[in-house]
Amino acid sequence: MNIFSGLEEIVETSHPLAKHTWYGLGGPADYFIRPKTVKQLKEVVRRCNENRIPIYVLGFGSNLLIGDEGLRAAVVKLETDEFAQTKLDSEKVTAWAGAELSKLVLTCVQKGLSGIEALTGIPGSMGGAVKMNAGGNFGDIASAVESVTLMDIHGNIFEKKKPELVFDYRGTNITAKFILNAQLKLTGADPEQIMRTVKETWIYKKNNQPLNTKNCGCIFKNPRGVSAGALIDRAGLKALQIGGAIVSEKHANFISAEKGCTSKDVMRLIDAVRQRVKEQFDIELELEIEIWK
Ligand SMILES: Cc1cc2nc3c(=O)[nH]c(=O)nc-3n(C[C@H](O)[C@H](O)[C@H](O)COP(=O)(O)OP(=O)(O)OC[C@H]3O[C@@H](n4cnc5c(N)ncnc54)[C@H](O)[C@@H]3O)c2cc1C
Repeated sequence: MNIFSGLEEIVETSHPLAKHTWYGLGGPADYFIRPKTVKQLKEVVRRCNENRIPIYVLGFGSNLLIGDEGLRAAVVKLETDEFAQTKLDSEKVTAWAGAELSKLVLTCVQKGLSGIEALTGIPGSMGGAVKMNAGGNFGDIASAVESVTLMDIHGNIFEKKKPELVFDYRGTNITAKFILNAQLKLTGADPEQIMRTVKETWIYKKNNQPLNTKNCGCIFKNPRGVSAGALIDRAGLKALQIGGAIVSEKHANFISAEKGCTSKDVMRLIDAVRQRVKEQFDIELELEIEIWK
């Protein structure tokens, strides 16, 4: 019998993942599943466990490099129906995993709610933003999140609140498989003032990041007290190219995928950059992006 019988509406087989990543790279997933409700998600998890199918949770794929061979697994994307909701109640916002971060930022600006405008220009979903503690020079999502609702790999749902919920540089202490939603605490402010911050942040990003290319944001975390981009630049690696993957001239911590690029090209370029930075500065660059292969 089909492993996912009765769930055909939300399950696709041999589904190409490239169109779900910002890189536009990645082979097929054995199962690509888009549950519409928490109940359906629980059922998907149960069937995967019963059949020993590994699960990957995909947001909007803006921090991911997926291998050319794809994944012998179930890739679960929480993006529709129940999972796309956002609820604003005075200064409290509940944003579900599939809500789009950039849209939420703008909604909050319009409502005169300050707290996440620093996330302007960061693509992705709420689930991905929380998991990665998305942010940068202007602040990160940690400062706005009060609590999260999670589901573990056995289908148990529970809440995690600060101070048990801890964020650090591009990460959290969330170990549960699924972030279902996040509760944010924002503060009332003048919409025009918040909009000015949004615009300034956006202009900064436009001037400093290769936004018109296929990329995945910063490849490496900044080592303590140093910018990874500056190290790569000082090592003379801007414009270094392997196959269709190229180190951006605009921001050396970005690797862009040109026409014909494969995931393998990006992985080889990542290795080359790491090796050269290690040789020159004796610093091991740590990945900020996630590689699924
Ligand atoms: C042009 C560009 C600029 C960027 N600039 C920044 C920046 O300034 N600052 C910054 O921090 N990042 C930046 N990024 C990286 C990226 O946008 C963020 O990391 C973003 O938060 C990832 O969200 P996503 O939904 O795309 O997650 P994905 O890339 O799909 O997934 C990232 C991780 O989150 C996990 N995940 C996603 N959803 C869930 C969920 N519901 N439950 C559990 N786990 C989940 C995935 O399993 C994976 O481990 C940039 C990326 C691009 C392409």
